[in-house]
Amino acid sequence: MKTNFTKINEYLFFIFAFLLIIFFLRSATYNFSGFSSSAGDGTAPSSTAEEDALKEDTKASSADHNPDVPKILIDPGHQKEADYSRENAAPTLNSTVYKVATGTRGVSTGVWEYELVLDVAFKLESELKELGYQVALTRDRHDVHITNKERGQMAKEIGADILVSLHADGSSVTAAQGVSVLSPAFNVSFIDADRAAVSKTLSTLIVDELAKATGARNRGVHFRNNLSILNWSEVPSALVEMGFMSNPEEDKKMQTQEYQGKIARGIASGIHEYFNAIADSEE
Ligand SMILES: [Zn+2]
Repeated sequence: MKTNFTKINEYLFFIFAFLLIIFFLRSATYNFSGFSSSAGDGTAPSSTAEEDALKEDTKASSADHNPDVPKILIDPGHQKEADYSRENAAPTLNSTVYKVATGTRGVSTGVWEYELVLDVAFKLESELKELGYQVALTRDRHDVHITNKERGQMAKEIGADILVSLHADGSSVTAAQGVSVLSPAFNVSFIDADRAAVSKTLSTLIVDELAKATGARNRGVHFRNNLSILNWSEVPSALVEMGFMSNPEEDKKMQTQEYQGKIARGIASGIHEYFNAIADSEE
């Protein structure tokens, strides 16, 4: 009985000793790996930096450099201070035009065109981003100096697929109302015929969708050879006239958030249809 009891004690002692050894081995392993990661200042942190760099790369490629996602340059037309000095109207043309104007002004509201189009540009930017596009703006404030030639050239410089310039109309006929889109002309030496054709598709889709979304009168697409922004842009381009600020009713309507939202959704829908059409034709 006594011997049995001693034997059990011996067994318990060995089991305890065994568990103690296991415990020491495990904590030693932890310590070892702990030392190796903190002692290896050169290796461990640099692999973390590499991972971070990789993550940054992925972020950058999906947000800024993804060639599969179309990039749209929105140009809120005009600016606060006009510059009535002149610049070449087109790359191979000696005739000149004003560099940049302040634009027209609301007959009822007194709001400037450069103010209205920036409000709509921000809404259009959100709509397009929601649809998954990459978007850039030629300006995000009024106090800038960017000529129309520079706005056109910016499209190619930043790798934009299309340029959409936002404007509002003015007329001495106060009853004039509705939406139109100005598109690069055909049969002029300084506008590539293919670019004019693709721009016509873009402009037509935008004006139709814009008229549908707003319920405004559809004044159609007009081809122009004297707008420096369209002449200097080397990508498909459309210049949207979103309504008449000289029409008292349309001017007031364009100052409501609701109507600005309709304008933005209409233009975004036209742009979306354009890229869908491009994708279909490439399949
Ligand atoms: Zn304008």
